[in-house]
Amino acid sequence: MALERPAAGRHYPTSTGELLTWFATDDDCRDYLEWLRWPDGFVCPRCAHRGGWRLGDGRFWCVSCDARSSVTAGTIFDKTRTPLTVWFMAAWLFSTQKDGVSAQSLQRSLEIGSYQTAWAMLHRLRSVLIRPGREQLAGLVEVDETFIGGEEPGLRGGRQRGKKTLVGVAVEVREPKGIGRCRMTILPDAAAASLNPFITANVEPGATVITDGWSGYAGIENLGYVRDRRSQRAARLRGEDPHALLPAVHRVASLAKRWLLGTHQGSVEPTHLQAYLDEFVFRFNRRTSRSRGLVFHRVLQLAVGHEPVRYADLVVESRPKRNPPAGRAGWGQPPSLERPPANRPWRVT
Ligand SMILES: [Zn+2]
Repeated sequence: MALERPAAGRHYPTSTGELLTWFATDDDCRDYLEWLRWPDGFVCPRCAHRGGWRLGDGRFWCVSCDARSSVTAGTIFDKTRTPLTVWFMAAWLFSTQKDGVSAQSLQRSLEIGSYQTAWAMLHRLRSVLIRPGREQLAGLVEVDETFIGGEEPGLRGGRQRGKKTLVGVAVEVREPKGIGRCRMTILPDAAAASLNPFITANVEPGATVITDGWSGYAGIENLGYVRDRRSQRAARLRGEDPHALLPAVHRVASLAKRWLLGTHQGSVEPTHLQAYLDEFVFRFNRRTSRSRGLVFHRVLQLAVGHEPVRYADLVVESRPKRNPPAGRAGWGQPPSLERPPANRPWRVT
């Protein structure tokens, strides 16, 4: 039975020191992935038969279909040439650094051979963050669009599309002034035909959707939502800041833009923007999580449940630059090579 509530220090490490102690070798990492992927014991990835024999090389032999599988086969670690210890350290930095990590920092911190390798590792980790069937936003939800990218990431310079990418933003409002979870999705344009699917995919029917006066939102009442329409014009006439009409969206959009400019130095290509937005949303929605180690546990759990992501798919439209973008110097220290002997505290015995 899968663990419902993983415990700190027992099911996931609570510090970098603990991480290095637990995962000193690739075998330690494989053991942990095995526990996450098959909490009730081996299940054949090919025929779904339960039970099999462990072979001398660490793989499993299915007694039903004769397939030999490793714990990384059919996951984002499939056929990786990067040691799992490096993957674990990357997942740790990705999960525990408040603002995440850039490919450049990752390459430096872990002494990864090439920038492209570090870049592709982070993209593979990013690609697992959105799980199908996740809960929709509920209650009071602000929805708006904003432009991201281009030279000047100012909020909403009109509704025309230039070099910037139009992004739909939905944010839960918690009275009196709080912000709940958010979602961000690239939109082809601000027409109802684009806005409606964004709302139905991310907001629970019955929710109150707060929008500005844009006609693209006019039909959402027919989709089962209560619309709370805030008029920018009326706000201007009242002498109020029109941006303050949707303060939660405004706040989340500026945080996302600051994060893209900060951690990633604004070097995000439009083809990869959605992946970065997914990472931002994942981080934002876990911002109050007290344990970063739990986020690490979750990321690896999603990673062994996610089909392989091929490099060719990552670069289908846009390859990473050979060299990292110039900008702010990276941070971080190489992990210590002095690692204490392994134990396996996540094994519940
Ligand atoms: Zn099988």
